[in-house]
Amino acid sequence: MALTPALLIGPDRHGRSVALADGLVVAMAPPGAALLPCPAGEIAAGAVCAHTHLYSGLVRYGMPQLTPAPDNFLEILERLWWRLDRALDAEILRAAATDYVARALLAGTTALVDHHESPSMIEGSLEILAEVCQQLGVRALLCYGATERNGGAEEGRRGLAECRRVQPSPLLRGLVGVHASFTVSDETLRAAGRQAFDLGTVVHVHVAEDTADVADARARGYPGPLERLESLDALPRGSILAHGVHLTRDEVRRCDEQAYWLVHNPRSNEGNRVGYAANLSAADRVALGTDGWTADMMAEQEELFRLAASHGDDTVTDRLGNGHALIAERFGTKPRPLEVGALGDVVVRQDGLVKHVVVGGRVVVADGRLITSDFEGIAADGEIQAARLWRRMANF
Ligand SMILES: [Zn+2]
Repeated sequence: MALTPALLIGPDRHGRSVALADGLVVAMAPPGAALLPCPAGEIAAGAVCAHTHLYSGLVRYGMPQLTPAPDNFLEILERLWWRLDRALDAEILRAAATDYVARALLAGTTALVDHHESPSMIEGSLEILAEVCQQLGVRALLCYGATERNGGAEEGRRGLAECRRVQPSPLLRGLVGVHASFTVSDETLRAAGRQAFDLGTVVHVHVAEDTADVADARARGYPGPLERLESLDALPRGSILAHGVHLTRDEVRRCDEQAYWLVHNPRSNEGNRVGYAANLSAADRVALGTDGWTADMMAEQEELFRLAASHGDDTVTDRLGNGHALIAERFGTKPRPLEVGALGDVVVRQDGLVKHVVVGGRVVVADGRLITSDFEGIAADGEIQAARLWRRMANF
């Protein structure tokens, strides 16, 4: 694959410049580097969304409301999300992911940690996501969330096999995905841990998002889902645990000791009424995700601060900033953004708006416009595919 041409961004209004070569930040731009001046702008690191679902990218186009309204988290899953994911086909998935990634880039989000499920189309689904990410130019960690909730052990095996198919590239890395402790057997969890070890990667799984996950693990004889995952060797160091709303403070501390990442998704937690994740403040390795909400990380962070304040939680640290270290672990680069050796993922803001976005040294948004694809065409196709999705959901 051709290396990205060298680029010199800046100077910005503070006189700061950042040089990029071979996709990374370098001390000095090589001769012949392209220039991206921004005298009125401000250079910053691209934002990281540490947990999301690209397949939900069409929700914005009028997803039908449930009537009667669901009573609890499991009902939301069963009546909405698990029907939506079964109704996905290749065209719908491509449209959803494309719309999601385009809006993420326009919002200055340069890296996405995705967790994918499309039970009616497991094989090949990650290739669609990989193509979309490569074409539009976003950095991503991809996995299929193995589950047994539709087709038993065979479905779990196919989900894990799909995770093996992600081809690493300068923008992409594969993870091993598991939906959640409560929808998989011991065998699938053991296999997920073994596969992550074999591939030199980590597991990405929903943990204790709702009390239902905790109750299920207890019914199986464990103190909770974290202990179940650990006792089945399903969590290599560096694994990514989404939510953790119902982990105890001791469990959250142990996540730090084991070098797991916890991902707080404040807007989703509030929307699903699963509770405020107060105990996450017991760990340092906590990043910020959107769980399928638009990857506008400034909006997610505002919601985090608002919810923290309303719950009297004054211990929230820089969860948005922590996403850089999470991504750097998977790419083997320097954890602090914009330092020499860090990923070349840079945003220029001007007057509070995203002006330029550069991912791995490639300019993907210039003067506030997506330049790697046609945004109006993406949105028009999104609307068409969304209408198909709502019709298909009625039959799943
Ligand atoms: Zn999620």
